[in-house]
Amino acid sequence: MKEIAVISGKGGTGKTSLTAAFATLGGKKVLADCDVDAADLHLVLHPEIIREEIFIGGSKAAIREEDCTGCGLCAEHCRFRAIGYSVTTNGEQAEKPIINPIFCEGCRLCARLCPVEAIAFEPAESGRLCVSGTPCGPMVHARLGVAQGNSGKLVTLVRQEARTIAEGEACELIIIDGPPGVGCPVIASITGVNLALIVTEPTLSGRHDLMRAAELTAHFRIPTLVCINKWDIHPGMTERIEKEARDHDVLPAGRIRYDRLVTDAQVQRTNVLACGDSAVGEDMKAVWRSVESALSNQ
Ligand code: SF4
Ligand code: SF4
Repeated sequence: MKEIAVISGKGGTGKTSLTAAFATLGGKKVLADCDVDAADLHLVLHPEIIREEIFIGGSKAAIREEDCTGCGLCAEHCRFRAIGYSVTTNGEQAEKPIINPIFCEGCRLCARLCPVEAIAFEPAESGRLCVSGTPCGPMVHARLGVAQGNSGKLVTLVRQEARTIAEGEACELIIIDGPPGVGCPVIASITGVNLALIVTEPTLSGRHDLMRAAELTAHFRIPTLVCINKWDIHPGMTERIEKEARDHDVLPAGRIRYDRLVTDAQVQRTNVLACGDSAVGEDMKAVWRSVESALSNQ
């Protein structure tokens, strides 16, 4: 079984549109949407959820009111300002503090400071892990709750689940829609994959973002390809980016032209290849052929 991660140095480069097109190509596969902070592959692939599990990403502090003496030490020292005081009906500050779980980072400083051990920690639901069916095959995706951290851990769970399904269903490929950027969730998305495809645009910032992502994949010794999306809005920059990428052992996988059809497909919540024959669709198929060829050499 092989894994390919489609990533980008920043959001909005067309990464998910391309991944959705890939989903319709090739043989049996499992899809893994690892962009857990802003998952959107499901908007195009319309998964039917088969199984949903609670994701516990960490724990949150809670004050046992009956044990608290109201000394205020915890509220004074919480650097995340998660501990405060409510106002009574008389308009006065309550004697004992309360914790806002949205702001609590679970650092446990308050529990260490509390002289009467009045602060406990409860596992907190941080999101949901979903296993779904789509017309293109099984899909594992997730929803991280608002203001919840630990997205790297959730990405790892998504990938583990995708591998389990791929093994169980004899699928030879896992296609990962990775998060943008170069942070912890991206590292969790690319670790151990056979191939990374970086999607970028022909702009100065696109060039910069590509190089950052390429440094990351080079660090993890992952064979890497690059695809320039909307290449024809700046052919000169496209040439420059592809040359620099080659100098860093990142080979071009193909170019995708600018076409309003991509946006129209997004608005219609479908993928470009489902909109009939098109030049931009052929560009995407050509990129897929490069990916298949590179994977066959791994
Ligand atoms: S665990 Fe850390 S962040 Fe949460 S309330 Fe205590 S000190 Fe604040
Ligand atoms: S440190 Fe402990 S006793 Fe003091 S206010 Fe906080 S919870 Fe209450």
